[in-house]
This record gives sequence, C-alpha cells and structure tokens, in this order.
Amino acid sequence: MGINYIYPEFEVVRNDARCIRCRVCERQCSNQVHQYDKDLDLVISDESKCVNCKRCVSLCPTRALKVVKSDCLLRENANWSNDNINEVYKQAGSGGVLLSSMGNPKPFPVYWDKILINASQVTNPSIDPLREPMETKVFLGKKGSDIKHDENGNLITKLPPQLELSMPIMFSAMSYGSISYNAHESLARAATALGICYNTGEGGLHEDFYCYGPNTVVQVASGRFGVFKDYLEAGAAVEIKIGQGAKPGIGGHLPGTKIVGDISRTRMIPEGSDAISPAPHHDIYSIEDLRQLVFSLKEATEYKKPVIVKVAAVHNIAAIASGIARSGADIIAIDGYRGGTGAAPTRIRDNVGIPIELALASVDKRLRDEGIRNDVSLVVGGSIRSSSDVVKAIALGADACYIATAALLALGCHLCRTCHTGLCNWGIATQKPELVKRLNPDIGSERLINLMNAWRHEIKELMGGMGINSIEALRGNRLMLRGVGLNEKELEILGISHAGE
Ligand code: SF4
Ligand code: SF4
Repeated sequence: MGINYIYPEFEVVRNDARCIRCRVCERQCSNQVHQYDKDLDLVISDESKCVNCKRCVSLCPTRALKVVKSDCLLRENANWSNDNINEVYKQAGSGGVLLSSMGNPKPFPVYWDKILINASQVTNPSIDPLREPMETKVFLGKKGSDIKHDENGNLITKLPPQLELSMPIMFSAMSYGSISYNAHESLARAATALGICYNTGEGGLHEDFYCYGPNTVVQVASGRFGVFKDYLEAGAAVEIKIGQGAKPGIGGHLPGTKIVGDISRTRMIPEGSDAISPAPHHDIYSIEDLRQLVFSLKEATEYKKPVIVKVAAVHNIAAIASGIARSGADIIAIDGYRGGTGAAPTRIRDNVGIPIELALASVDKRLRDEGIRNDVSLVVGGSIRSSSDVVKAIALGADACYIATAALLALGCHLCRTCHTGLCNWGIATQKPELVKRLNPDIGSERLINLMNAWRHEIKELMGGMGINSIEALRGNRLMLRGVGLNEKELEILGISHAGE
C-alpha cells in the first residue's frame, strides 16, 4: 500500500463530556465521517472524509461538535502554499484534472468592496422610502427609440417583448440535475411569489414546473437538453447560454450516474448516459450564426418572448457584447469570473475570465458609445452578494442582476464547495432521495422570499439616500459611485471618480 500524501483539511472536535451518543451525526453525514463504536461506546471520526459542510454541527442536540480548519499544514512558503502542494499530490495520485465547485476563491480584487455609494445632503434631499413611492420594477428587453401615441395618448408604437420584474434581480441558471428537485421547486415558487424569474439552466424543465412558466427563463445551451416546442413556449424568456463565468470557454458534463429517472426524462436523454454540453454551439461560429439561432428561437415563440444571450466575462467582452446586441438579442447576460458552478475544472475556474465589475462598465460604455445601449438590456451575475452590490451594478450600467450563490445560501448551503460529489448534505446539489428530502420547499421558498424582500427594502433605502426614486433613474448613474484605493486605470475602466473628487 502506498503512502497517503493528502492530509485532512479539517478537524472534527467532539466534546465527549457533552456527547450523548445519539448518533445523529452518524446518520446525517453523507460523507460517512462519523461512526459509533459499540465496544468503546464512542463516536469516532474519519476526518479525511470531512468537507466542513457543518450539517453535524448544526444538528448535534448537545452542541458537542465543532469542525475547524486543521493547523497541521504542510511546510508552506511564500511560493508554495498548502493548497499548491496538496493539488500536486492529488494529481500525482490520480493523473486527472482537478474538479471544484462554487466560485473562484482566489484573492483577486472584489471591486464592489472598493466602490462607495453617494448620499444626498442639504440640497437634492434624500427620499424616505417608507413614506414616498419608490419604483423597483424593471422591464428587460429592447427599448424603442421612437415612441408614438395616438390623439388620446394611447401608445401606438409596438414595443418588442419585455421581461417584467418587480425588482432588478433574477435567480440565475442552475439546472435540474446539478441541483435537486426540491431546490428547483423552492426557486420556482419564490420567483413566482416575488414577481421575478428563475432559470432552468441547461437541464430542461421538469413537467411539474410548467405551471411556473411566466416566472421562468428557459435555457438553450450547446447540448440542447430538454429543448422542444412546449419548453420554449413555457418560459417568459429564452436564454441562449454561450458561456458561464466559472468555466469560460469549456462545456459542461453531468456524469451518467446522475442521469436517472426524472432527470433523464427532463433532459430527454437515456438513463446512465453522460450529459455532455460541447464547449461551442456547433452551429455558431460568427455573429451571423448567433443571429440565426436568436431569430429561430423568436420564430419558434412567435416573437412573443425576449431572447437572452448569456456569455462569460472575458477579455474583449465589450466587442463581444456589441456583436450580441447586433445579433437581435433582447438581453445580454454577462457572468463574471467569481460566478459559482456545480462542477468546473479547478484551473479554469480559478484562472480564466475577468471581474464582472470591469466587464459591466466597459460593455455599458461601449454600447452607449455605439448608440445601441437601448437595443439591449444588461443583466450581470458572478458574485452578487448583497443589495449594495446590486445597487452598485445598476449604477455601473446594469438593468438587473442574476444571483445564484446567495440564493443557495438562503436554502441552507454552507459553501463547502463539494457540489460535484453529488453528496450535498443540505439537499441542494444532490439527487439522492434521502438527501433531497432534507430541503423542504415550503421553508426554502419562504427563506428566498424573505431574502429578496430584505434586499428590496435595502435597495429602496440606498436609492432614497441618493435622492433617487426608481431603478430607471439609477441605471448607469456613475456619478453616484466613488472608488477607494483604485488606480487610475481601474477608475478609468469603471468610469468613476476617486473618493474625495
Ligand atoms: S450528534 Fe452530537 S451528541 Fe449526537 S452522537 Fe454526534 S456528537 Fe454526540
Ligand atoms: S450546495 Fe451543498 S455541496 Fe454545494 S457548496 Fe452548498 S452545501 Fe456544499
């Protein structure tokens, strides 16, 4: 037997004086960390299996447990971190590509945290959102430049289809397969109650969820899983997924072991077959090709639904967005490099793409400079963590934001970053029935609604403080933003002044 070079990352600390041997931890852990030893009358732990999801810690009735990061590190130095060394050991053992889940954890700058928001003082008074009307509703889609009314003031200009949202947030794409039935139901129910949208991702739409169609964005990805006429007609908008922030330039892969039962039916592929989404759409090699798909989808939905094109934030994103706007798309969704994922090669997730803040600012500027900004709406995602991130994104030029990780956290995710194993102890990123049932959609949807209502209130407060009473008036209003600790180039790309200016 060879030497095991990989040392446990976490330590399970059990206070034996408090432990009543109830074995809850043993039953609750899908990673089989805990085991009761009858002879010793002790619960013992195999820490090499622990992913620090904290399920056992939360449910231990006597608070006997804690999980801590091990301080038994390999000998690090400024060049070789513990993680670097461990990754080499893993690959030397497996010969395989490293896989990861959720977003890029590397310490690249988070520009949201280097941008501050303005507030009214003395002149241009602030607005009290509790007493005065505040409009958080947004309409996503092409805005006509020439609005005509008849003699009675009725609108006669035929507007392109719009996606109406009660607030500038949608739940981002997460496929049925990467997350559970109960997680999808929670998202669908919350989106419907809130008057926003959730997104099917590339896994098709389960038959039980067609009733949530008016609050659903249906996705068409390179694998075309589950895409057929009824599916396209069911959604409020159709999204063509070209790329994703966590893994720009590569496709997706859901292993055959997860393609079972409902998932195989919903994706319309045989049980046990790998669901592989190719890196490119094999019918798109130019903006003209993209235009053909955009108009095929419009044709298929009788020009009644806006078409979204989703891309990852990459180096020449402004030029790419300009092309997409000219392809006939109604909405461009841009996903930054900190965006989450159910599974991605670690090297891609951690090293490819650019921050959403810089991508958004440069796209908005480019579309304005070219006079085509109102031909499309912009939706941005990739680590929108709070209502203030939303407000900053709108002021930088977004029409709305996509959130996913924050939504999963509301459902109970503990960011253990092991979604790719399919063993999510919180019933979210799993298809195992005994784990799926741990997430109650009644509670899940309620928590999502609470989160969004809290953000809506905070967005109103932030806007009121600026003396602004609608999202429309905030959009692209970069005068409301100031940078701190940013260099000239960063400020120039963001199109904002430094604090104090
Ligand atoms: S859940 Fe807590 S009390 Fe129960 S066996 Fe585990 S450590 Fe002991
Ligand atoms: S969804 Fe589940 S597996 Fe994925 S990070 Fe959250 S708790 Fe961990």
